[in-house]
Amino acid sequence: MIVNSIALEQFRNYEKTQVDFSPAVNVITGRNAQGKTNLLEAIFLLTGGHSFRARYDRELIAFDCDRAKISADVFSGEREQKLEIILNRGGKRQLFANGVRLKTGAELSGRIKAVVFCPDDLNLIRSAAAQRRRLLDLCLCQMRPRYASALADYGRLYENKARILKDWREKPSLLDALDEFSLQMCRKSAEIVYYRANFTELLSRHAAEIHKKFSDGTENLTVRYSTMKTVTDPTAKPEQLLPEIIEHQRTHREAEIASGSCLSGVHKDDLLIDIDGRSARQYASQGQTRTAALSVKLAERELHKEDGGEYPILLLDDV
Ligand code: ATP
Ligand code: MG
Repeated sequence: MIVNSIALEQFRNYEKTQVDFSPAVNVITGRNAQGKTNLLEAIFLLTGGHSFRARYDRELIAFDCDRAKISADVFSGEREQKLEIILNRGGKRQLFANGVRLKTGAELSGRIKAVVFCPDDLNLIRSAAAQRRRLLDLCLCQMRPRYASALADYGRLYENKARILKDWREKPSLLDALDEFSLQMCRKSAEIVYYRANFTELLSRHAAEIHKKFSDGTENLTVRYSTMKTVTDPTAKPEQLLPEIIEHQRTHREAEIASGSCLSGVHKDDLLIDIDGRSARQYASQGQTRTAALSVKLAERELHKEDGGEYPILLLDDV
């Protein structure tokens, strides 16, 4: 996959810029705060509309502007494609592929794929679980549009349920809708667990192989997926997972109401990364955790290759 060129308008610190790339390796240099990471972020957005660092579109639109535009000519799937993203402050995004309007970010995914490695990723092993979940999400959303839409649905349900749990004391009638939201979240959780678990098995295999090379054949790296305790085999089909997930929800219902927060669901998942059978997070040295993080990221790249037959764009930021 190749990004031939990209044009940015009012995106982050770019007012209007057009960049043509070489089909091989491109090195982007510049002073601090010149916009190097922003450029990588724009490229990454084309993979499905997710930023690797921003949560909201408003962060991506240049200060004091209402609209940002990214358009790119890419080569993937053996053809030239034109991708375009328009971000609107306070409004919905518009996505286009070859001039055709797309309904969701999930429809954009898969056209171009990228693996990004930023300085934060070096702390992947020791950082909070959210960062490891993000690794799963950023990679899976590109590979499986159905995952991307399940995750987006889950996010919306989560926001609604969180609001109910937060506000029910002031307005007890809110609780009437709680169980329905919980059930819908369980359904989405079942889909997400299935994808995440099967993906992690493949990721672990590739990461182990890469890490072995890095450590001159001496260290065994394993990556395991950790989700709700009631789930016996997370790689099972969503239909089989659903009753176990509902059971987890059921046993946490009272505690959720009492604590006012969502305690059951895939928003608590994690990846357990071990070196030679011991938790890397707890026992590995600084160098070992960095090498392990790099192994996991490079494994992502192999997975894309295995899945789609092409190497994704590799974005290395200050590594
Ligand atoms: P470094 O080498 O320090 O990592 P960089 O070239 O990667 O620098 P970027 O992270 O791309 O720098 O950021 C460049 C500038 O963009 C920053 O000064 C930041 O304040 C600015 N910036 C970020 N978001 C916006 C925005 N929405 N509108 C305008 N400017 C922004
Ligand atoms: Mg930077």
